[in-house]
Amino acid sequence: MGSKFAYRSLSDYMRSSTLRWLVLLASILIMLIMTVQLFWLNKVYSFEQKTFNTNVVKSIRGLYEDLDLVDTRVHHLQDLIEHPSTDYFLFRVDNFHTEDSIAYYLQHELNDFDVLTDVYIAYYDAGRTSYKDTTYITAAASRYPPSIINLAVYHRNFSYVLLYFPHRNKYVLQQMNFWFISSAIVFVVLIGLAVILFFFYRQRFLAEIQKDFVNNFTHEFKTPLAVMKISAEVLLQDKITAQPDRLRKYATIIENQTQHLQDQVERLLQIARSDRKDLPIEKKQVALKDLIEQAVAKVQPLIDEKKAEVNIQVDEELQNIALSADRAHLELAIVNLLENALKFSAKPHIIVSIGEEEGNIYISIKDNGIGIEKKYQKRLFQKFYRVPTGDVHNVKGFGLGLNFVKRIIDAHHGTIKINSLPGIGTEFRLILPATLNS
Ligand code: ADP
Repeated sequence: MGSKFAYRSLSDYMRSSTLRWLVLLASILIMLIMTVQLFWLNKVYSFEQKTFNTNVVKSIRGLYEDLDLVDTRVHHLQDLIEHPSTDYFLFRVDNFHTEDSIAYYLQHELNDFDVLTDVYIAYYDAGRTSYKDTTYITAAASRYPPSIINLAVYHRNFSYVLLYFPHRNKYVLQQMNFWFISSAIVFVVLIGLAVILFFFYRQRFLAEIQKDFVNNFTHEFKTPLAVMKISAEVLLQDKITAQPDRLRKYATIIENQTQHLQDQVERLLQIARSDRKDLPIEKKQVALKDLIEQAVAKVQPLIDEKKAEVNIQVDEELQNIALSADRAHLELAIVNLLENALKFSAKPHIIVSIGEEEGNIYISIKDNGIGIEKKYQKRLFQKFYRVPTGDVHNVKGFGLGLNFVKRIIDAHHGTIKINSLPGIGTEFRLILPATLNS
């Protein structure tokens, strides 16, 4: 049954509950790992910032031990060192030493405590309330040239030495290189996993489509073969030679069924062949009315079988309209649409017409069949798509016809319009560009 092997699109497949849960779980897991990763990066960043501060304070403490800058018996160390803003430190100096000696000792202390970034050193004179002198120490591995800046001034009623680290943040981030690289690896691995997961399920989905197709295919071929077998059995009966009418009847059945199978195989082959490349279009002048009449003649057996009524309606001025098109392909497109119109209508009344729309020519095939719900309409042209109709109709097919029609019309740079109402009928309009009309 047509409905039994209804096509499943990727999104249908994604809707299947196991897969939905799996995808959801994988997404949550990936998000979770990424969040944890970001959380850790943030933690490491704070830790590196703290370590930097501690190391600077340790270096200053070392300096106090190296040089007799204040009377440490009177002052507590924490009262002597300030950290007024991220990049600035200042420490009190009561007994002045030359700039050079402070810079010299400080450089060693900073090196010892792994503070390997450039630093400005300025001496603040409480008497003059300004910086007396500045020295710029370039770290051995510094990547940045020294720049002239206006140092922030912190007014105090004592003299102090100001330390300013112009590249502090970049330096801290540099220290985190290992973490960044490992995070990047984790991200890449996760994304890789997600991609593998996607392809794995896509593969499974394609396998499902293939299975659907094989089911459809077997189903399509089973009935004619069964009919032929029965007919052959009748023909094998001894008395059949005495009944020429019966003989002719069953031979005709076999012939019709063979023809039907041949047509199906030919159609599948044609689709398979054309699938690999663009449709080869051989254009010549095609009289449209004539083309439609021939297409209708092709489906005459089906028209008779369904006792259908098919009307061809062409306005007077379009009676002789001809387009530059591929005759065989265009006829096949119309035949496909006619077959569908006949298949999907209980008592088919089909109107085939030629008209003009916005300067373009169209061929319309209109039926009074079961119609197609709006939500299915945009997927009709996908390969293997068949509207899931439950058990409403029992119509055979592969879901390839409309896909082929679309490819034919695309090759002519045309468009297809669908007007359809469930229970009322469907109209397919093949709109061919006016440029073909030459
Ligand atoms: P097939 O007819 O072999 O199933 P098609 O690609 O020709 O494949 O059509 C795809 C689906 O579109 C059909 O299965 C049917 O559900 C729907 N369809 C096509 N034409 C009509 C029509 N005239 N009326 C109602 N449904 C249609």
